[in-house]
Amino acid sequence: MKNSGYQNLDLQPIAGQWRKGRSPRSLEVLDPYSGDTLLNLPMASHADLDEAYQAARDAQPAWASLGPTARGDIMRRVVALFDSRKEEIIDWLIRESGSTRLKAEIEWGSARGITQEAASLPGRMHGRILPSDIPGKESRVYRKPLGVVGVISPWNFPLHLSARSVAPALALGNTVVIKPASDTPVTGGLLLARLFEEAGLPAGALSVVVGAGSEIGDAFVEHPIPSFISFTGSTEVGRNIGRIAASGSHLKHVAMELGGNSPFVVLADADIETAVSAAVTGKFLHQGQICMAINRIIVEAPLVQEFTRRFVERVGALPYGDPARPETAIGPVINRRQLDGLKEKIAKAREEGATVLLEGEPQGNVMPPHVFGDVTADMEIAKEEIFGPLVGIQSARDAAHALELANNSDYGLSSAVFTSDIARGMQFAQGLRAGMTHINDMPVNDEANAPFGGEKNSGLGRFNGDWAIEEFTTDHWITVQTTPRGYPF
Ligand code: NAD
Repeated sequence: MKNSGYQNLDLQPIAGQWRKGRSPRSLEVLDPYSGDTLLNLPMASHADLDEAYQAARDAQPAWASLGPTARGDIMRRVVALFDSRKEEIIDWLIRESGSTRLKAEIEWGSARGITQEAASLPGRMHGRILPSDIPGKESRVYRKPLGVVGVISPWNFPLHLSARSVAPALALGNTVVIKPASDTPVTGGLLLARLFEEAGLPAGALSVVVGAGSEIGDAFVEHPIPSFISFTGSTEVGRNIGRIAASGSHLKHVAMELGGNSPFVVLADADIETAVSAAVTGKFLHQGQICMAINRIIVEAPLVQEFTRRFVERVGALPYGDPARPETAIGPVINRRQLDGLKEKIAKAREEGATVLLEGEPQGNVMPPHVFGDVTADMEIAKEEIFGPLVGIQSARDAAHALELANNSDYGLSSAVFTSDIARGMQFAQGLRAGMTHINDMPVNDEANAPFGGEKNSGLGRFNGDWAIEEFTTDHWITVQTTPRGYPF
C-alpha cells in the first residue's frame, strides 16, 4: 500500500497537539539548491516551549512504566514506517538539506538503523546487585531513565542526528523535546515526530519546537524540567550550552557532539589507489558538511606527488550541481552564509601561500570542489573546521611527523590512517588522540552499535549501542538493611 505524504508540516507537535507556533516570527524554509520556499512556519514561542516541557514531564512516568516489549514495539513500528515512507523521507532530505541522493540514502539508513538498535535497548537496561561490606545489607543499583531530554540537532544530517538521540532516549523510558536547526525543521524534527506518532507513541511524549537558537535557545537549555540536554552542533555554540546547563538553579547532564578536524594520513607503504578512493568520498560526501569529514590530508613525503596527482584527477571529475540527479556527487551547501564563509576560507588559503590545484566558480549555493597543495599546519585551512568541499594536502617527512601533524589540532573526533602493515596502522591509531580512528578506511563511519564521539574540543560523551544506555539513563543506588546494624553511637 502506498502512503500519502505527511501533510501540514507548518504545524508543530507541541504538548500532544499539532498546531502553529505562537511566536510572532515565522521561519521561511528554503530549498538550498533551487532557492524555492518549501514552507512558511510560524515559530514556537517561550510559552510553547514551556508547554512542551510540561507535557513531556507529565507523560514520562506512564511511558517509562510500559514494559520493554511495548516500548520496543513502538520503535519497531517506526522502523517499518522508515521502510514504507522511504521515498518521502529521501525526498525531504534532498529538498530541505541539499542532500545528494546518495547521502540521503545513507542518512535514511543510519536513522533507520539507530531506531532498530533502540528497539533492543529497553531489554538491555540492567541493574546490578553489589556485594556489601556491611552485614545484612543488600546493595542494589537500579538503572532509570533521566526523565525529560532536550535534543538540539544541526542541519547537516538532521534526521539521523535527531534520531540518534530521540530513539534511544524514548526507548529507555525518557520523554523528549526536540529543537531542530532552523534550516531543517522538517527532517530534523517534524518528520520524526510524524513517524513516532503514526507508530503509536503516546501524545506529549515527543514535542518539537521550531525556533531560532537566539530566541528560544537559552530558554530551551535553562528550563527547569529537562534533566539532560543532548547537543550536536558547533564547538562554539556547544560551549555556551555547557555553560548554561551548568549554571542556574537546575544543573543538568549534557552530551556534546561538536566540531571536528579529521586527519587522513597516508603512510608511504599504503595502497595509493584505495587511499585516493577513500579520500574522495571521505572529503566530498555531502559537500564536506560532515563532522567526521576529512579536514586535513597528510601524506608521507615519498607518496605526496603521486597521491596528489591521482586525487586531483579523481576530484576534478566529480559531477556537481542538482542534488536530485542520481549521478551528482556534490550538491549545494546549506545556505548563502555557509557559501560566503567558504569563499573567505578559499581567499585565506591563497593569501597564506597554499597552491591552488583545483578550483571553480560557485553556481548558486553549489561550490565546486577545491584542492590546495603545499599546505602547512599553521594555515587556517588546516587549523579550522572547513565544513565544505575544500581540502588541503600536507606533506609529512616520515610516520612520526605524520602523527605529530595529525595530533596538532584542538579537535579529536574521527581520524584515518592508510598503510599496508596493519600492526603499524594499529600503533599509529593508538597514538592518535581522537574518539574514533579507522585503519584503511575513510574517517566517515557511524554504526548503530559502536561508540560515536570525540575527544578534546570535539565533545563529551558517546552515542549508540551500550553507550546510549549510559548517556540516556542514570543509576540509583538503593540499599536494604535486612538485619539491625550496630551503630557506633
Ligand atoms: P550550530 O552550532 O550553529 O547549531 C547547532 C544547533 O544549535 C542548531 O539547532 C541551532 O539552532 C542550535 N543553536 C544555535 N544557537 C543556540 C543557542 N544559543 N542555544 C541553543 N541552541 C542553539 O551548528 P550547525 O551549523 O547547525 O552544524 C554544524 C556544526 O555541527 C559543525 O561544527 C559540525 O562539526 C558539528 N556537528 C557535529 C557532529 C558530531 O556528531 N560531533 C555531527 C554533526 C555536526
